[in-house]
Amino acid sequence: MATPERLPLSFEFFPPKTPEGVVKLRAVRQQLYAYRPEFCSVTYGAGGSTQAGTFGAVQEILAEGVNAASHFSCIGATRDTVRTQLAELKGMGVRRLVALRGDLPSGYGVGGEFHYASDLVRFIREECGDDFHVEVACYPEVHPQARSAEADLQAFATKVKAGAHSAITQYFFSPDAYFRFVDDARRLGIDVPIVPGIMPITSSTQLMRFSDACGAEIPRWIRLRLQGFGDDTASIKAFGLEVVTRLVEQLQAGGAPSIHFYTMNQAAATLGVLQGLGWRA
Ligand code: FAD
Repeated sequence: MATPERLPLSFEFFPPKTPEGVVKLRAVRQQLYAYRPEFCSVTYGAGGSTQAGTFGAVQEILAEGVNAASHFSCIGATRDTVRTQLAELKGMGVRRLVALRGDLPSGYGVGGEFHYASDLVRFIREECGDDFHVEVACYPEVHPQARSAEADLQAFATKVKAGAHSAITQYFFSPDAYFRFVDDARRLGIDVPIVPGIMPITSSTQLMRFSDACGAEIPRWIRLRLQGFGDDTASIKAFGLEVVTRLVEQLQAGGAPSIHFYTMNQAAATLGVLQGLGWRA
């Protein structure tokens, strides 16, 4: 049987909080590098992570000879701090950013000089021209704080007009949500690549918690099947692998330009999907 054509890949990590986590992530990255990713990205500020953690992991990836993207969130930041951080990233050799608004912990007011990710994208392009390839986030199932689906799509268009080069979606499990979103975006004149963000399923409780927080929908049949497995992690993983592999197959068949994996700093689940697809390292 012929090996299926594979799509370009990128892998996302979060900065580890402990020295053991740093060591473990190095090994995880080496396993995933076998698939020659276009780039690997590191989240910023998510879950209370610090700038030093993000920049440190980005630096390691670059030193390993792989293209690294630093996520960069602007909520609460000033122009001066952003300017300084951009200069630092440029000095490190970073050429790719994922530009985000980010989220403040509940109870904090919205301070700072940037209100939306589009403000950050505009600032980066004004200050740095073409020095960085700028990615933005987008939401096939609508950002939870958006006034409406239409308003959220307009907000995405504003980020692209401000100078974003490409976009990565929030994760989803309904391929139709993605295809519909891409069609709507194209109708609005958004012409940049819209890369599906894929979350492998490894834990039922973790997935439910994340999805509630970020507005990603778990279809009822997936939710019920996962609940039915209880604490049987082997069955959850086997089912998750099947669901996510099939999802990526459908996205590839429907013309997705590449695939971005939310690895959660684990290699096995992502590798399982890639092997399930029959994609060769
Ligand atoms: P925005 O694009 O600014 O949108 C935020 C909300 O404001 C949306 O509801 C939008 O519809 C609305 N909006 C935008 N512009 C306007 C306007 N002009 N008027 C009215 N409403 C408007 N979080 C982290 O903390 N760290 C990370 O590293 C991180 N990485 C991520 C990577 C990806 C690929 C994705 C999909 C998300 C990531 N997040 C991360 C989560 C992200 O920070 C949150 O989803 C956040 O709530 C929104 O960020 P944004 O950049 O999409 O914001």
